[in-house]
Amino acid sequence: MMIMEKTKKFILPETEIPTQWYNVTAEMKNKPQPMINPQTKEPLKAEDLYPLFAEELSRQEMNQTDAWIDIPEEVREKYKIYRPSPLVRATALERALDTPAHIYFKNESVSPVGSHKLNSALPQAYYNKIEGTTNITTETGAGQWGTALSFAAKTFGLELAVYMVKISYEQKPYRRSLMQTWGAQVIPSPSMSTKAGRKILTEHPNYQGSLGTAISEAIELAMQTPKCKYTLGSVLNHVALHQTIIGLEAEKQMAMADEYPDVVIGCFGGGSNFSGISFPFLRHNIAGKTTTRFIAAEPASCPKLTRGEFRYDFGDETGYTPLIPMYTLGHKFAPANIHAGGLRYHGAGSIVSQLLKEKLIEAVSVKQLETFEAGVLFARTEGIVPAPESTHAIAVAVREALKAKEEGKKKVILFNLSGHGLVDMAAYDQYLAGDLTNHEVSDEEIARFLAES
Ligand SMILES: *Cc1c(COP(=O)(O)O)cnc(C)c1O
Repeated sequence: MMIMEKTKKFILPETEIPTQWYNVTAEMKNKPQPMINPQTKEPLKAEDLYPLFAEELSRQEMNQTDAWIDIPEEVREKYKIYRPSPLVRATALERALDTPAHIYFKNESVSPVGSHKLNSALPQAYYNKIEGTTNITTETGAGQWGTALSFAAKTFGLELAVYMVKISYEQKPYRRSLMQTWGAQVIPSPSMSTKAGRKILTEHPNYQGSLGTAISEAIELAMQTPKCKYTLGSVLNHVALHQTIIGLEAEKQMAMADEYPDVVIGCFGGGSNFSGISFPFLRHNIAGKTTTRFIAAEPASCPKLTRGEFRYDFGDETGYTPLIPMYTLGHKFAPANIHAGGLRYHGAGSIVSQLLKEKLIEAVSVKQLETFEAGVLFARTEGIVPAPESTHAIAVAVREALKAKEEGKKKVILFNLSGHGLVDMAAYDQYLAGDLTNHEVSDEEIARFLAES
């Protein structure tokens, strides 16, 4: 017999789109250590970033005093295309797992680009535009950041050049098509168009590319072109700041559901969607009012949080960026070609790194097969095919729900569905054909990359 289930979807009106982002550093007892200028060894100031990033973004990056930062009205207006995003109680998934846990997910896959990345792409394009920038550059791994920025650049009238990690350029041609449809120029990285790209190609002619290399190329082009700035879609503090719109909305929606999360989960590449769903709830832990657990879910093949080292490291492979205090596998780390391309980054943002060091958040790693198993279960119950990145969060939500079942306890679980997987079906094909494998790195490999960096 069919059991009809009510969809429990919590929708906010447009008027409830937050008017400010939340800056958790202002309320952290121990602030993240400063970024360091590798030449002078001095702590970085906002002005040091002006040649690279829009000035307002540079100031946001360094702001450790204002807990709330106004969202420009023009950006809020554009957010209305897809925000507020729905919060959904995953009742069909709960039933499939036969768990007493209540599982909620915040659905960021409803953005026109299919992921949370647009939440930061829009303000980054906006601030560049009003400061007189005409061209922006960036890199993209799986292609989600590039697609988001392509639409945002077009929206605010900027030209965009995207360095796309070569393996993704070849494996994910539709993301390239999306970027080109929105008017961006897309270059596979490593390329011969920059010194950084030429150097790597000379040493390793068949190199399939990495985010680290693509970042080096995008920075180099921005530094050499007038009125051209660089943008980054993860890792940095201002990106995490913009993503807090996810958690701020979710907080209101959990209140509509008359519940509060015991556990908050996000998949983890550089940390932006995890920060976005977590920080607004974390502030109540910091204030001593709640004891919510925050779990970052990373791939076993790129385990910077669970097996990396906390130290100063470069954000890119060549060493163009400032030194960032982070959990890292070393900036020379070359991750396996797993399908969650957006999680193949060697380091973590400095805020999440500091929070993890103090055990205010947790991290776990998940192997590729477990993530796809969870992704397919989610698709078959809730109907949405999740991005391979997002399946990491789902897998950990499933683990937590099964734990609740073992313990016979109700538990409220909230995870962020960072994106859909409709452009990643080649990965699902491989999984369904039984051709997908697990990739784990050995301790020796990690030690070697850390020593090289
Ligand atoms: C980019 C991306 C991620 C990883 O980046 P974070 O900065 O860690 O959030 C996760 N999921 C999707 C869908 C992405 O596009």
